[in-house]
Amino acid sequence: MAQTYTVRIKNGTKSVKRCRIFLWWKKYTCIRRENSRVYYEKKECSRWEKNHMQRYCRRRNLTFEAVPTQYTRSSNYRSLFFAKYPSPTGKYRCAYCGKKKSKDKITIDHIFPVHCMEEYPAVRRRAALFGIHGSNDMKNLCTACMRCNQKKEAKMGIWILKGFIGKQPWYWPLRRILTVILVFFVLYLGRKIYMPVVWNWINTLQK
Ligand SMILES: [Zn+2]
Repeated sequence: MAQTYTVRIKNGTKSVKRCRIFLWWKKYTCIRRENSRVYYEKKECSRWEKNHMQRYCRRRNLTFEAVPTQYTRSSNYRSLFFAKYPSPTGKYRCAYCGKKKSKDKITIDHIFPVHCMEEYPAVRRRAALFGIHGSNDMKNLCTACMRCNQKKEAKMGIWILKGFIGKQPWYWPLRRILTVILVFFVLYLGRKIYMPVVWNWINTLQK
């Protein structure tokens, strides 16, 4: 399949609003952000169309951005994820904190954030090392509760590792077993310190 691009046209030294009729005719959609900034976007542009718009923007002093379409957020990644990983109990585990939540309270998180994938080719190359060749790749998606999703935002680093390990089904049961083993091990190591105290206490109870 030929490579397609998501083209975004933003204000440059000139306002993008001046070209809105041309962009509307070219089937660009207007997207408004909270800070009242406006830009125009069109998905699935061919290479030819992208280059054409780039020249147009240069002439009109507008800011031009193009991202390979597979790195932008798709509209159906959530339903695709639930179709691929159906849960028999209807509950999903958050990959970051391990809490189980019902389907309507769980969000689908991009482990490598969409924003970083769009902006930085270095992040795309790093993701490719994990076998991820698009933001909406199933390997790049994990379940997250709303709290963890808000905490993570567009962070990378340790969150990437947490996401990849936490989404494995064996991780949380294994972690629980290891915690129990660790607790018993610490109790075993400290027995000389607290056992006399425990015996004293038992003796006082018997008196
Ligand atoms: Zn969580």
